[in-house]
Order: sequence, then structure tokens, then C-alpha cells
Amino acid sequence: MKRVHMSPLGEDRDDDRKVTKPSCDTFEVGIVGAGVAGSTCARVLGEAGVKVAIFDHSHPREKPCGGFIEDRVVEEFKIPEALLENEVKWSLNERFKLRTRFQFEQSQFLVSRKDFDSYLLQEALKNNSVVHLNEKVVQVTAEKEKWMLRTNRGKCVKVSLLIGADGCPSLTRKYVYRPIPQSFLTMTVGYDLPCSSQYLERNFAKNTVEVYYSRKYVKKGGFIWIFPKRTKINIGIGSRESGFNLKQALDSFIAVHPAGARLKNIEGQFFAHLIPTVWMAQFFDLPCSGNNWALIGDAAGHVNPVGGLGIYYAMKGGILCGKALLDGDIHLFEDYWRKEYGDELYYAASAVSKFYSASGFALWLPYVFRNLLTKSRHSRY
Ligand SMILES: Cc1cc2nc3c(=O)[nH]c(=O)nc-3n(C[C@H](O)[C@H](O)[C@H](O)COP(=O)(O)OP(=O)(O)OC[C@H]3O[C@@H](n4cnc5c(N)ncnc54)[C@H](O)[C@@H]3O)c2cc1C
Repeated sequence: MKRVHMSPLGEDRDDDRKVTKPSCDTFEVGIVGAGVAGSTCARVLGEAGVKVAIFDHSHPREKPCGGFIEDRVVEEFKIPEALLENEVKWSLNERFKLRTRFQFEQSQFLVSRKDFDSYLLQEALKNNSVVHLNEKVVQVTAEKEKWMLRTNRGKCVKVSLLIGADGCPSLTRKYVYRPIPQSFLTMTVGYDLPCSSQYLERNFAKNTVEVYYSRKYVKKGGFIWIFPKRTKINIGIGSRESGFNLKQALDSFIAVHPAGARLKNIEGQFFAHLIPTVWMAQFFDLPCSGNNWALIGDAAGHVNPVGGLGIYYAMKGGILCGKALLDGDIHLFEDYWRKEYGDELYYAASAVSKFYSASGFALWLPYVFRNLLTKSRHSRY
């Protein structure tokens, strides 16, 4: 008689033939990645009772990110006030040694990605049909009308629809379509520097973020940002250079630039991460969905390349992808996202090279002179 044992990994072990046959759980939808895109999509599907498995091995985690969110994120997604660490009314910008300060029309906000993303995942998990698997997907195999996902813990899950929300670079994207071209990926490095709220008050202008475009530090388009949050400062640099060069440039900025003096003596956590920076509008003609798959957030390349903002598009894309599925055709996602925020991404992709060029600076000059700052005003360095 043949004996079958269940292994702790959920696999059937057939003793007679010594063959390992995995038993797979099945779900209607598998979402790889529980960042802002994946969790938002899972919530929409969960609310409609769709059986969803959402995979992410990293929670709770601080995603390398400035955590700058626009007012529309707070309004549209009803973000609780407790998550908003700093209300941002002003941006202090420095370009070619000219310093300006402009006021946002609406307040923007800074969040901790650890708290923000945990909140979004918990919201999704309020729906019983959504299951979080605290595992990393390591392999994706196409089967007849299904996808088989394997995790780092040997688990096997079959899903009818696969959603890649696994950020940048995306493993899912590689299996369902093809990777984002290297030339559209930008390296970012930075530090999260813990400090007291009193230190922040003393050393940083209230309700203000700082952005430095100096060619001395940022050579190939991009900027250095300093975002003071509740009990830490997030500083980073993004540019089309190697991570090594960027770290050197950022360390030198902190050591030499007057703005860095406030950060020099704080020990913090270093981070490095890729971000999609699409500088050719045609990229956005590429499909983000197929018969039984879709890509959202960074996995779809949905980041504004001028400012590096992707949180809004990731969340909105998550909603629209869920809506397409609930409307009965995942291909509808193509129309939905292009109609909702496509214009912004197409325009930014065609404008980004100009923005960082000398002619872009010339176009910026009238605005600079309207908002020019003297050294002493509104700045703490
Ligand atoms: C340094 C930096 C600063 C930024 N600053 C801002 C900012 O201030 N404002 C803004 O709007 N945007 C910013 N962005 C962009 C923003 O972070 C992204 O656009 C946004 O996080 C995209 O969300 P997402 O859910 O698509 O991906 P992510 O937030 O990257 O989430 C992807 C998730 O997938 C998981 N995952 C990956 N692979 C697997 C796998 N194989 N199996 C299971 N899980 C997996 C990861 O653990 C992660 O939790 C910044 C980006 C960087 C790199």
C-alpha cells in the first residue's frame, strides 16, 4: 500500500517512489508584493470577496523612500492623520547656487513607509478573502490557464490571475513580459538619520523640504533631497550614476555643503534602491496587462521621472487594476490608468531630459528670480 505523508512545507511525499510532489494552494488572484500598489489592489479585490494571496517577505519594513505624498493621496485614499509625520507647505530649492523657496498650493505630507505600508496591508487584510503569505516568490511558471508560484520556503500556490506589484526590479515582470530596460532605471542612495523632534525644530525650517540640484554633486540629472520627518531625517540622492559615485557624492555633500552640517554627526541607516525613470514617452505604450496578468506601481514603471514620485500612481494603479478585474476584463486596466494619470507620465517622460538640461534651467530662471532667497531667510543653515 502506498503511504503519503504531509511534510511541514505542505508537500505530499510519496514514500514508494521517493518523488516529491508539491501540493499547491489555489487562489483566484496572486499579488506579488505588499507595497503601496499591491496592498491597495488587494483591498479593492478583498472588498469584493475575491480570493487573493498577497506575497511579501519584508513586512514590517522601511522601504527606501522619501515618503513624500501629495495632498491627493491623503484625500483620495483617506489617509489617517496619525500617519502624516510632517505637513509640507514649502520647498527650498537650490540650483546653480541660487536658492529659492516656493509655496505648494496645497499642503503635501511626509510619511514613514514602514507605518504607511503596514497600515495599507492591514486595511487589505480586514477582508477575509485576502491572505498574506510572508514569503518571497522565487519562481513563476506558466501553466495551462494558471500560474504556479514557488516561494523561498518551498510553498507552491496556483493562481488564475497574477499581479506583479513587486517594485523595481520586478521578478514578476520578467516572467510575464520583459524587464524594464536598464537605461530607464536610476540608482538612489541615502540615509535615514534618527534625531529628536527638538533637534528638527532647531535645525530645519518648519513645514519645509529641501531639494538640491547642484551639478557639483548630482552630475547626470537628478537631485539630493532632505526630508525632515517626525523623529528622523531622510536624505538621499538619485541620478543616472553608479551607486558608488552617488554614495561618494552624498557623503561629500554632507561633509562640505553648509546644509550638510546639520547631518554630519548623526549615525543612521544607509539605503540603496532602484527607481524607474522613464525618459521616453513611448515606454508607456507598452502593455501593463495580458490575458491573465497585470503589472502595477514600480513594476509597471509608473513613476514620474522628473521628481521621482511614484506612491500616488502605485496606489491609483492598484485601484484601477482591481476595478478592471471586477469589471470582467483585466485588459481594461490599459484604458483606465492611461485615462486617469497617463497624461502626467507621458508628459513627464518627454520633458525630463529638458528639465535637467541647461535650457531647462533657463526656463526656470524667471521663477527663480520671483522666489529668490537671501541667505538668512527661511533657512536654518
Ligand atoms: C530612494 C527613493 C525615494 C523615493 N521617494 C519617493 C517619494 O518621496 N514620494 C513618492 O511618491 N515616491 C517616491 N519614490 C518612489 C516610490 O517609493 C515607489 O514608486 C513606490 O514605493 C512604488 O510602490 P510599489 O508598491 O509599486 O513598490 P514597492 O513599494 O517597492 O513595494 C514592492 C514590494 O514588493 C515586495 N517584493 C519584491 N519582490 C518580491 C518577491 N519576489 N516576492 C514577494 N514580495 C516581493 C517588496 O518586499 C516590497 O514590499 C522613491 C523611491 C526611491 C527608491
